[in-house]
Amino acid sequence: MKRLGPLILVALSLALPSFAVPSPKCEIDLGSENLSLNAPIKGTENLDAAFALLEHLEISQGIARAGQDKLKSGKLKIELLTSKATSSPVPEPAGLFEAGKEESKIELRSSELGLLAVHLYHELVHAADLDFEKSAMSLLEQRKAHDALGKFVNFPSLEWVTWEEESSRIQKDRQLMVFKAERLAFNGQRALLLELMKQTPCASGFYRFHERQKHIIVAEVPDTTLRSLYNLYRLPN
Ligand SMILES: [Zn+2]
Repeated sequence: MKRLGPLILVALSLALPSFAVPSPKCEIDLGSENLSLNAPIKGTENLDAAFALLEHLEISQGIARAGQDKLKSGKLKIELLTSKATSSPVPEPAGLFEAGKEESKIELRSSELGLLAVHLYHELVHAADLDFEKSAMSLLEQRKAHDALGKFVNFPSLEWVTWEEESSRIQKDRQLMVFKAERLAFNGQRALLLELMKQTPCASGFYRFHERQKHIIVAEVPDTTLRSLYNLYRLPN
């Protein structure tokens, strides 16, 4: 797979390991079964449960099914990682989407099922975003052209600081692409959370608790905040 180092989109909430206080208990009735938002993340069964939750809600059903189709056809891979698996001194992002020509990848680091479902949804919105896909592939071609000229510095994953090495046109294009993609994903994330909290009152306590712990963003994210979260300073006004 061609890995697109710079074309990575993250869900900005942090996967911080272990908390002293347990999260408020909350179960969601899916009709055939009850899912506990507090279920600790252990493996693939949690991913199935996260998909079941997203497919249960009308608001997230289409995106979840499109994601399942991509998974089945091999165009998308999803990995569940634990924070312990990395030795990074800074907290890891909770979600990450990496666009690839043949195969795209989602990485998730969530501690509980309720978080996993929302982080998964955020990344699935990226995976379903055709504008992003188009822009990402076009930028990849531009990057290749720069590489061929020997003027390009390789990007370590998630490093945005080396953008000074690029032409300002490519920087602007990419920042605009990231801004649009994150705007879409955060709008989707917020709509999903509001729906979950409306349908299941205990979800409110669960997500507000995790928002205080910086595990998830429940509040609306204004454009200005989005720009500073993703270091998007070169956007045309
Ligand atoms: Zn994102």
